[in-house]
Amino acid sequence: MNIILLGPPGAGKGTQAQLLQEKFGLIKLSTGDMLREVIKQDNPLSKRIKDIMNAGQLVPDDVIIAMIADRIVQGDIQNGFILDGFPRTVAQAEALDVMLRRLDKKLDAVIELQVDDAALIQRIAGRFTCAKCNVGYNKTLNPPAQEGVCDQCGSTEFTFRDDDKAETVASRLKTYHAQTAPLLPYYQEKGILVSVDGMKEVDEVWHAINELLQSQSNLLT
Ligand code: AMP
Repeated sequence: MNIILLGPPGAGKGTQAQLLQEKFGLIKLSTGDMLREVIKQDNPLSKRIKDIMNAGQLVPDDVIIAMIADRIVQGDIQNGFILDGFPRTVAQAEALDVMLRRLDKKLDAVIELQVDDAALIQRIAGRFTCAKCNVGYNKTLNPPAQEGVCDQCGSTEFTFRDDDKAETVASRLKTYHAQTAPLLPYYQEKGILVSVDGMKEVDEVWHAINELLQSQSNLLT
């Protein structure tokens, strides 16, 4: 089963992708995570990428498409993948179609997580991640059981994303509406777009995604 999770920043794509990975053994491919690895390096390209990310803009299509093209040919995606944060432009979606055709694969579903902008801003403003095991939290909506200690691994170190600052978030949302939202009609036309109410709690959204995949039960066999 090959799935795209589509939605604005803060909609919960990463969280749901993680759950899909655990339950169905799919491989999560997150271009945001890949880019965050790239910008740890110190070279002119990584510096340019970091500036683009911190401005809330999109990294050029050719860079992103090359990154996914390299990743998608690796053997571990044979049982299926979840794309989180890719594609983000129609040009990326078209390039993905070409890649999949060459690999004799197809997309089974594009799941849109619908969340309104005000809720996104609140979610993003409070989010942080365990520096050791990468589990995500939110200061008000989903804090660790014991303040300052990761539920999963006990680490006391957390990281905050540079691009989660309020001014960058506004720009990321604008970018989403201008450049990524046109993917909704693109996939609607292909008959593979399904939408889920992403305003609900994580468990409820997860439940809705499961129901949806069950209803298309050929995806789960
Ligand atoms: P994310 O973790 O998916 O929110 O991505 C963080 C940032 O990485 C985005 O705001 C973009 O600057 C960049 N990025 C991630 N995925 C893409 C993509 N598919 N195309 C262009 N830029 C991307």
